[in-house]
Amino acid sequence: MPDDLVLGDALLDGERVDVGIAAGCIARISPAGSLEGPTRIALDGALVIPGLVDGHIHLDKTYLGLPWRPHVPDGSVAGRIEAEKAERRRITEPMALRARRLVEHVTARGTTALRSHVDVDSEVGLKGLEALLRLREEVAHLLSIQLVAFPQSGVLSHPGAPGLMEDAIRAGCEVVGGLDPACIDEDIEGQLAVIFGIAERHGALVDIHLHDPGELGAYELRRIAARTKAAGMAGRVAVSHAFALGEVSDATLGRTAAVLAQAGVAIMTNGPGPEAIPPVKRLVAEGVTVFVGSDNIRDAWSPYGNGDMLERARLVGYRAALLTNEELRLALSLVTEAPARVMGLPAPRIAPGAPADLVVLRAAHVPEAVAGAPAREMVIKAGRVVARNGVLA
Ligand SMILES: [Zn+2]
Repeated sequence: MPDDLVLGDALLDGERVDVGIAAGCIARISPAGSLEGPTRIALDGALVIPGLVDGHIHLDKTYLGLPWRPHVPDGSVAGRIEAEKAERRRITEPMALRARRLVEHVTARGTTALRSHVDVDSEVGLKGLEALLRLREEVAHLLSIQLVAFPQSGVLSHPGAPGLMEDAIRAGCEVVGGLDPACIDEDIEGQLAVIFGIAERHGALVDIHLHDPGELGAYELRRIAARTKAAGMAGRVAVSHAFALGEVSDATLGRTAAVLAQAGVAIMTNGPGPEAIPPVKRLVAEGVTVFVGSDNIRDAWSPYGNGDMLERARLVGYRAALLTNEELRLALSLVTEAPARVMGLPAPRIAPGAPADLVVLRAAHVPEAVAGAPAREMVIKAGRVVARNGVLA
């Protein structure tokens, strides 16, 4: 049976091949020049890498496309939450339009799957979630979306939040979110009991934002690991940011990393500028899954971010001193294999049987692609070209 699409003379990391694609998956990999067909696209030795996976984004928060909104400074997480709510009330353009704009923006840059947190609180209720559930259907041909019910205003400290989060999971969210059990709710065990309770009742995943610092944050990480173990949820729990891991003593780091690895709790970083970040190499060496996401893109939390996951891999690689070829390949895995594993997606491989989610760019090999983050020539989702040269096809 002929392939639906042939990528001719494609450079995989080290060899030039033809890639045959059929029924949305990679059907065969043959020596360069050996596959023909009416749908052959000549890549002339361009590098093909797996589709990029954004493990942490906030589609509902972005202002992308609106006139520039100056950042309002406020040092505390609580102050920023209130500033964001005030801004949210002033914006008239429907959130779904901005979210769709961001989806198209990241698709053109090679993201083929993402995990988006969506605010769930007494003010927006489930309206944001419902809009993103509709959007997910509309853009399924561009990328895969997983949704996290995110209690941005707190869990126990915000009236009605636990019920809303459970309703969000019933409505189609795959992941239960959380936020700083100590500094937002001042009740570590209470918040974790709610989160893990919902997750266990519904077979959902867990992804907790944790900005709580130092020894306190490390203690919370160990408590999350203990809950994960007790619930039999290894591989189904993630903690986002976990700045604490970059702040504590070596002894505390070692003890906490061992517990996280053993419990199967993954750590997400976006490599934020002013914060201590989890030590990527050390955590990976200890057996902890580390993955990367954009987090905020042009919103009340940050004017930065562009949703380019190859550039994000470069940024995290820069901050985490990933320098050798092997380490640069690790950097790419932080935005491909690792987030896919955390999200329960098929492994992004360029091999027969794998989904044909692919990105084409000009580089000699993966290390150079990560170091330079060159423009994306083509993005392929489920065997279909969805973007060329930064523009949707
Ligand atoms: Zn976030």
